[in-house]
Amino acid sequence: MEILKSVLEKVIARNPNEPEFHQAVTEVLESLEPVAKRHPEWVEAGIFDRIVEPERQVMFRVTWVDDNGKVQVNRGYRVQFNSAIGPYKGGLRLHPSVNLGVIKFLGFEQIFKNSLTTLPIGGGKGGSDFDPKGKSDGEVMRFCQSFMTELAKHIGPDTDVPAGDIGTGAREIGYMYGQYKRLQNNFTGVLTGKGLTWGGSLARKEATGYGLLYFMKEAIEAKGMSFNGAKVVISGSGNVAIYATEKAQQYGAKVVALSDSNGYIYDENGIDLETVKEIKEVKRGRIKEYVDVHPNAKYVEGCRGIWSIPCDIALPCATQNEINGEEAKMLVANGCKAVGEGANMPSTPEAIETFLSSGVVFGPAKAANAGGVATSALEMCQNSMRYSWSFEEVDEKLHDIMVKIYKNASAAAAEYGHPDNLVMGANIAGFLKVAEAMYEQGIAY
Ligand code: NDP
Repeated sequence: MEILKSVLEKVIARNPNEPEFHQAVTEVLESLEPVAKRHPEWVEAGIFDRIVEPERQVMFRVTWVDDNGKVQVNRGYRVQFNSAIGPYKGGLRLHPSVNLGVIKFLGFEQIFKNSLTTLPIGGGKGGSDFDPKGKSDGEVMRFCQSFMTELAKHIGPDTDVPAGDIGTGAREIGYMYGQYKRLQNNFTGVLTGKGLTWGGSLARKEATGYGLLYFMKEAIEAKGMSFNGAKVVISGSGNVAIYATEKAQQYGAKVVALSDSNGYIYDENGIDLETVKEIKEVKRGRIKEYVDVHPNAKYVEGCRGIWSIPCDIALPCATQNEINGEEAKMLVANGCKAVGEGANMPSTPEAIETFLSSGVVFGPAKAANAGGVATSALEMCQNSMRYSWSFEEVDEKLHDIMVKIYKNASAAAAEYGHPDNLVMGANIAGFLKVAEAMYEQGIAY
């Protein structure tokens, strides 16, 4: 890095103790060096310096009372990163590992992902260190109401439209939306991932997982491969993992493993998805319960061992940095030919380097998992029209968007001299539109 080195140095100095944010910014700036060379006017206008600094960051206390009458205190976040091409948009993560650096990495990535969808949405992200696991419905509701009481001051259908993420599913979105409506006395599309009877979009639940498969299908077919008959390993067993599994199976793949943060299951006959949905979506249980129903399958304690399973295609759909350099080498040595990131930043820089240098078809998160936010934007569209599309209509639009994202990322990679490098392609294609918008809008923020 030459031109952008000083930008990165400033980010690291100004944002200490935020390793995930540094990691995300480093990857993007490395990809953008050739863009900076081609666009000195953007360097001059400080586009690169500005894009790494959030427009606004809100941190707040979230107080709620647990079932034992004890007062609990969590910390809430909303980072409104960039609104050059539309209202801030990005999920709310509820997980004990959440801190400002994690939310900033996610918000930064979201700028480029949202731009890639071709839809008019800016980038943001939020959440809390609250852990919904093991809490009663009443506790989750009281947390969500308290969280929204503050968040409501900062969001709006034309300002910032949050959505789900880890730990924030349909139940949490429902409680938050109920509280927003109570506070603001209006019924607007201020959150996405809503229930189907109150403004939600068909196919939103499936969108990230399905979209990942639509994207990867294009990417692997360009290299003469197919999902049909392929052995696939998928990490996680949440929203993204479940619907990635469903579409992979529809494409004729055999998905042999899924996981949660405690361990993984291996079923050589192929995962029975109905059992997984029953455990995770209905009972909110743990993935190890799968072997109670399918005793032929194996449960192994510790989630990281999942990458030792030989497979043709790996789809990490759990969390950040879940595949390190060693695990990536193991996947490649065991014959893995394609990796598609359903989770955000699941591969470390060493892992990405291993995949790219080994000729693995690598679909980076901001392109491959953009189907969720794209469909959220379609939900916003339907809310504005006060009208809803059928499942098939939404799914078809999602499919077209994912194909377009693949084509745009692939074309940008080739144009900037790195054909097949979809990491560079996605970063560049996502950046160009935002940079142009920021440039044209002047030095306003
Ligand atoms: P869910 O909460 O539905 O599921 C998350 C899954 O990942 C669970 O199986 C969970 O296991 C596992 N997991 C979470 N944290 C860890 C950890 N630290 N170590 C190991 N496993 C972990 O979330 P989603 O499926 O919605 O999200 C998964 C990923 O996809 C995230 O990176 C998210 O940002 C990304 N994403 C999600 C989108 C969406 O539309 N939902 C859109 C785009 C990206 P456990 O139950 O044990 O915690």
